[in-house]
Amino acid sequence: MNERDTEHMIAELHEKENYEVTRDSLDADLIIINTCSVRERPVHKLFSELGGFNKKKKRGAKIGVCGCTASHLGKDIIKRAPYVDFVLGARNVSKITEVLHKPKAVEIDIDYDESQFAFSEFRSSNHKAYVNISIGCDKACTFCIVPKTRGDEISIPTDLILKECEKAVETGVQEIFLLGQNVNNYGRRFSGDHEKVNFTELLRRISKIEKVKRIRFTSPHPFHMDDEFLEEFANNPKICKSMHMPLQSGSSNILKMMKRGYTKEWFLNRVAKLREMVPQASISTDIIVAFPGESDDDFEETIDVMRKVKFDQVFSFKYSSRPLTEAAEMTNLVDEEVSSERLAYLQGFQNSITDEITASRLGEVYEVLFEETREGGYVSGRSDNNIAIKVLADESLLGTFAKVKITKTGRMSQVGEIIA
Ligand code: SAH
Repeated sequence: MNERDTEHMIAELHEKENYEVTRDSLDADLIIINTCSVRERPVHKLFSELGGFNKKKKRGAKIGVCGCTASHLGKDIIKRAPYVDFVLGARNVSKITEVLHKPKAVEIDIDYDESQFAFSEFRSSNHKAYVNISIGCDKACTFCIVPKTRGDEISIPTDLILKECEKAVETGVQEIFLLGQNVNNYGRRFSGDHEKVNFTELLRRISKIEKVKRIRFTSPHPFHMDDEFLEEFANNPKICKSMHMPLQSGSSNILKMMKRGYTKEWFLNRVAKLREMVPQASISTDIIVAFPGESDDDFEETIDVMRKVKFDQVFSFKYSSRPLTEAAEMTNLVDEEVSSERLAYLQGFQNSITDEITASRLGEVYEVLFEETREGGYVSGRSDNNIAIKVLADESLLGTFAKVKITKTGRMSQVGEIIA
């Protein structure tokens, strides 16, 4: 979402103020840090980065802080770093060219103005287009700051999304990547009087656009994975067969404390249904270890889910207490040493699963969309089920599809040979 917000700001600055992107921050007239606030560490990093930029920046260059940390710290950012020229919240990115001319502006109100839903045209990839389908989040996960920084969950009108997709594919993009905090809750609430379209129907409509070759989305929420959605996922050939299913914890007890709205059994049931319908689908997840009150038994439940599901990829985090969240009030914190041990154990456990899965792919053939050049004369892309594969080839491959046989496997990336 931040990447998409950044693209929008770049487009606005270019169209209205003639800015160009520079690769070298020392050369910049404007430095923008677009922040996340989901965990604490990036917030600390923000202030050290700001200090660094302030020392090195070109004379007269402006510095702006945008995104979720801007939303939640607001004017305190300017108090701590007085050289910051403006602070712009995650929901206010459309005001980028306004704040530029208001010294020490702090714009962090959450507004619901639909005219701000349409993003200006700039895409950092020629092959893949991020498209927002909703903003904010209506969940009340007790660990999460996002609803406080990005506000209520509002679906973007379907016709606007379809227009964005059409515009993107007309520029040569093949893959549409839909973004939202709970994409499969799409359509529950619009800010104006719009046709009620749910996520499944939205997927159907996007796939009818002829030039759209692939559709991906993130993040779906396990709670909303009903059969209708899974059937569309399974049967629509344009939908890439990779599903992100953020588990957070395998213990039903902890899931309840997190207010995730599902149990371990529900999660496993949805995985079983998905695997039955689409055996080749890859499944990735997010896991938080050491949420307050997590016992050894609760942690073992998480490992049990990992053992049963064999996720293709796991993004794992140590619980980080965030201001404005319910969990921040909890006092039954897990010891720091225990948290670190659990995270290390979980990551080691997943590594052996990842190694097993990747080794089993040797010799398999996948259809790859090539997106980027890599060091050593490689061009890399992704299979439909999200395996990163690189082949020795020249740039003419970019933006094309090819059938690739995997010839060498590794934890992070697979090497292949084009066979057709
Ligand atoms: N909307 C998504 C979450 C997006 S945030 C969902 O509901 O699943 C991305 C990931 O950051 C989350 O899935 C979670 O694993 C992690 N995360 C969020 N808050 C956290 C916290 N307080 N401490 C540690 N990890 C956190």
